[in-house]
Amino acid sequence: MPELPEVEVTRLSFADRIAGARIDKVRLGKPLRWPLGVLPEQLEGRTVRAVRRRGKYLLLDLDDGLLLLHLGMSGSVVFADDLPSPGAHDHFDLVTSRGALRLNDPRRFGAVVYASHENAAEAAKLLGNLGVEPLGEAFEEAAFHAQLRKRRAPVKQVLLAGDVVVGVGNIYASEALFLAGVRPTLSAARLSRPRARKLHAAIRDVLARAVQKGGSTLRDFSNANGESGYFQLEAMVYGRAGQPCRVCGSAIRTIRQGQRATFYCPTCQKS
Ligand SMILES: [Zn+2]
Repeated sequence: MPELPEVEVTRLSFADRIAGARIDKVRLGKPLRWPLGVLPEQLEGRTVRAVRRRGKYLLLDLDDGLLLLHLGMSGSVVFADDLPSPGAHDHFDLVTSRGALRLNDPRRFGAVVYASHENAAEAAKLLGNLGVEPLGEAFEEAAFHAQLRKRRAPVKQVLLAGDVVVGVGNIYASEALFLAGVRPTLSAARLSRPRARKLHAAIRDVLARAVQKGGSTLRDFSNANGESGYFQLEAMVYGRAGQPCRVCGSAIRTIRQGQRATFYCPTCQKS
């Protein structure tokens, strides 16, 4: 599943090239998770001003309104001068004066939604409950600790919920908790200030490195078939159940937390 770093790298792969482009044509494939919310023809002639990211949403600012694009479970985006005829899993094409943007999404949990304004109901419904951006200045260590103090749920669950800090998905939550030496099952409220500080730094570190790594593979990422592009850091714990910890050699353990697999080192993450 695309996580925040993949979405940010996707943004970087076409944001500069599409800025200023005029929309010539919009083609829809099979229904996605939510309807577009506007007739495709109504988007024609509008200009794409810029591409921003909020959590795992890409926001294409138009001269009138905006498009919110989500990659869902299996979505990927390509932007190219020319695209081949759409395949069975190509469900949205935005053909512009500067190239065509295509969303390929086999499982169709992704979506493209039009909103007249970022505060309009259809956008607020998707963006309204998102926490602060982990790579932005608003993600501040003291405030993070104060938010954790209010929550009794296991710290990993609180990270995944996205309302304290947005976009820390399953892989990066596991990795950040390992780096911070925090057991994923620990109640968020029990994290001391120094440990919250470590976790704050670890979240930033793991996400920033993933974006950087994705950025270095950007050429592959935006290739014409769109199949490549999911990149991962060499994981310390994620997906490594039973293998030796890269730090201490203990066997990595896995448990289920809220339907998701959690990985941790019983020695490096004592409590
Ligand atoms: Zn270890």
